This record gives sequence, C-alpha cells and structure tokens, in this order.
Amino acid sequence: MILKKEDAPSSTYDVIVIGGGLGGMSVANILAKNGRKVLLVEAHNKLGGLATWFRRSSCNHIFDVSLHGFPYGMVKSLNRYWSKKISDMVTNLTDIRFINPQYSITTNYTKDDFLKILNEKFNISSENAENFFNHVMKIGTEYDSNRTAEELFNSFFPARPDIIRFLMEPITYANGHLLEDPALSYGIVFANFMKNGIYTVAGGTDKFIKAMQDELLQNGVDIKLHTKVKRIDVQNKNVQGVFIGEHLIKSKIVVSNGNIVSTIKEMVGEKHFSKEFFENTNQVRLNTSSCQVYIGIKEGEIIPNIGDLIFYSDAKTFNTQELLNMKISSRTFSVYYPKTRPEHNRYAVVASTNAKYEDWKKLSSTEYEKAKQDMVEDTLNCLEKFIPNVRGKVDHLEAATPLTFERYTSHLNGASFGTKYEGLAISRGLHKEIEGLFHCGSVGIIMSGWLGALNYAAITANDIEATLSKSF
Ligand SMILES: Cc1cc2nc3c(=O)[nH]c(=O)nc-3n(C[C@H](O)[C@H](O)[C@H](O)COP(=O)(O)OP(=O)(O)OC[C@H]3O[C@@H](n4cnc5c(N)ncnc54)[C@H](O)[C@@H]3O)c2cc1C
Repeated sequence: MILKKEDAPSSTYDVIVIGGGLGGMSVANILAKNGRKVLLVEAHNKLGGLATWFRRSSCNHIFDVSLHGFPYGMVKSLNRYWSKKISDMVTNLTDIRFINPQYSITTNYTKDDFLKILNEKFNISSENAENFFNHVMKIGTEYDSNRTAEELFNSFFPARPDIIRFLMEPITYANGHLLEDPALSYGIVFANFMKNGIYTVAGGTDKFIKAMQDELLQNGVDIKLHTKVKRIDVQNKNVQGVFIGEHLIKSKIVVSNGNIVSTIKEMVGEKHFSKEFFENTNQVRLNTSSCQVYIGIKEGEIIPNIGDLIFYSDAKTFNTQELLNMKISSRTFSVYYPKTRPEHNRYAVVASTNAKYEDWKKLSSTEYEKAKQDMVEDTLNCLEKFIPNVRGKVDHLEAATPLTFERYTSHLNGASFGTKYEGLAISRGLHKEIEGLFHCGSVGIIMSGWLGALNYAAITANDIEATLSKSF
C-alpha cells in the first residue's frame, strides 16, 4: 500500500529499501515477488529517482528528465525483473543525428550502420572497422583491463579525432564516460548499445513509473513517499533498521539506493566501518552532473521531424573536458513528438549537457539566475539553427542545473551517474563490513543508466536472498 504522510509503517520488515529510483524499485520488486515483506522509502513526492518527469499545468506540458535512450537489453531485464506488460512499453528510436564541424550524420545506431558509416564516410577499410567491433564486443571477457578509452581508439584509428568523436560522444553524454576512463567500461556500454540500437519507452516516464508503482503495490510492497531517511541503525556491525523521524522501523536487511558515499558517511557513520574501508570510501570520486533546458512548444504548433536524438556541437574538435564547460558548445537534444504521448499530442525538446557542480555552486543567487537565463538563450539560439523561428513556437522554458539534481535526488554534488568505477568495490563490499547492509545505485559506468540500475539491482537482490536464506 502507499502510506500517507501521516501513516506509520509497520514496525518490522524483511527488507527496507531507501530510495525509489530504478535501482531501489527493482530491488523492492524482485524481493517482494520472492515473498519478502518490503518497505520502500523515498524522499521525493514520487518514485523514479532520476528516471523522472514533471508537469507544468500552466501550459499543460510534461517534461521527461532522463528519457533519452537506453540499450535493447532493457527489454530482457524488464521482462525478467518486472513484467511483460512493462517490457512491452519499450520502443525503438530510429533517427539519431550527429551535427558538428567535422561531420553531419544520421544513423539508427546499430553495428551494421556504424560499419557502413566508418567505411563510406570515414574511409576506414571494412576489415579494420570489423576488427574494432569484434574487439569491442569481447571487451570485458578477453581484453582491455588496463587501457583507457583513448588508448583503445588510438590503437585502431590513430590520428583520427573525428572517429573518436563519433564513437565516444554519445557514451559521454549517456554515462559521463571520459576518454581517460577505462576502455573496459566504455566497451561494455558501447557494445550494449550496438547490439540493437537505441530504445525509449512509449507513453513517457510518467506512464512507465506508474506501471512500476502499480506492480510494486500488487506484489505487496509498502511505499512511503516524502520521507528522507537520515540514519540507518547499526549495532555491533549488524543492521537493525532505519529511523523514520524518531521511530526505528526494524529490519535485518537495509538497502540504500542513495549515493554510496553519503550512505556510508551520512546515513551510517564512520565509527561503524573499519579504518581501511572508510579510507577507501574517501578515495571514491563522484561522477559529473548535468544541466538541462526544457522547451515546450505551444498547443497547435508543430515542429518538423529533425530526428529523435541530436548530438549537436559547435566545437571544432571533440574534447571530453570541454563538454563539462559552462560555456556550452555541445548539447544533446531529445525531441518528444506527439507519438511519445499520443493522448497528450504535444511537442517538447529537452537539451542536456554534462556539467561540473562547482561551477554552479560558487555563483551568488543573482549570478546563478543570470547563468540559467544565459543557458536558456544559448540553447534557443542553437535550436534555431535547425528549427527556424522556434522562439515564436515556444510557450515554456525552464532550466535545471547540478544544484537542481542535488535538491531532487540528494545525490552529492548532483552527480548524474553516481561515482566513478572505484565506487563499485565499496558498494559490493558494504555487506561484508556490516551484516545486512546493501547498496544498489550508480557506481561506475556499467552500473548506471537505466539498464545498469536495473541489472545492478538484480545482483544486489541476489546477494540479499543469499544472506536471508543463510541467516534466518
Ligand atoms: C540529465 C540526465 C540524463 C540522463 N539520461 C539517461 C539516458 O538517456 N539513458 C540512461 O540510461 N540513463 C540516463 N541517465 C542516468 C539514469 O537516469 C540514472 O543512472 C538512473 O536513473 C539511476 O537510477 P538509480 O536507481 O541508481 O538512482 P536514482 O535515480 O538517483 O534514485 C535514487 C533515489 O533515492 C532517493 N534517496 C536518496 N537518498 C535518500 C534518503 N536518504 N532517503 C530516502 N530517499 C533517498 C532519491 O530521492 C532518489 O529517488 C540520465 C541522468 C541524468 C541526470
């Protein structure tokens, strides 16, 4: 059931999940399907975490925040950990465009099309292009435990920054991966996308998360919204439950879907961990954050088909650090046509950029408002290049910054993709430090994004089942 603000949860659960992002919801669903009594506690007024949306009733718009594209693997994972009804919502995005001073390309983002483009547009021999793909498809099982992504590209396409841009740019947007990050994690994510193209959910994030919430309730999960957990109770290295306000809700298993670093430092506290584990936690780097501009098109106005996902850049060459710069030269536009929500019949465009938290945090409130306004103006100027006079068609403009992401998800520094890959070992080691304490949430590129969140949740749920069957 959904517990109202004033309702108190039961006093004891088999499992308490803190955070209702895709990861937390998935752990809760898998364990509830197994017959466990689960409480899901979420700080925000709705489930979804970063997989969220918001309405603006003044202009009757719904904006999706992180619904830009995920790999086909979601179908299998949704089928397995949720239901066929939910996996049937997944649908293909076919028009992916790259527009920058080095090239202009439209692709369906599949291996076959990439091989053709590498050959015909970039003059790479079919053999070399095939070799690259054969290599990348085996990354993680056979190769590249030590190289960086940049070294990987240079070994196949030396002195070809245009090709690096083509192969890297979408992955940087999708998961914050940089050229200096490991080739291994780049390869796994890129290969996932290349298996079958880019996908989205029909009906929008609101319909998708509503279907998940319905399934959670059907499976008997208690959901408590508007509730930020400040403290996980630990005694003698064993989890006892979580405090909701002053009340201890008891459970021998607690899973945090919050950021791994704040889970350890803020919700549990240093004194409960070994010195080595806590020091290693201090070494975990947060991932970068994002900015977005939400552009609503007036009712009755139409915009031409300019593609579903457009990687647009004015930068002469590709540089992953430059993608984080406040002076924005590169953006991804996600275009939502009426087909996204046929009953709603509206157009919207969401422009996303990677961003650094510190750049925004240091501004005074006046500077902050001005920087947001400048970002909106720059984005419209850019969009006018391929939708002439778009300003006249717009009825809603709004911007989000790293501070917005921090406020709505409690992620340290508004990190869009959790932590860098060293967060994974800490996340996986949590239950070995404190009996009954688990984590699921973005830690490294493979364990983030919609698919990563889902698959990592399944791994965590397995660990929990193993603990439950061992000790109770
Ligand atoms: C702008 C942007 C665009 C993106 N685009 C894509 C994309 O196109 N494709 C893709 O695959 N991925 C994308 N992502 C990434 C993707 O959305 C995330 O990786 C994924 O949704 C993370 O899920 P999660 O469950 O790990 O955590 P989150 O979604 O961060 O959920 C964590 C939840 O825990 C709650 N919480 C935290 N602390 C507490 C507490 N103490 N008490 C109670 N609740 C708490 C938060 O409120 C939140 O609801 C994007 C992200 C951003 C920011």
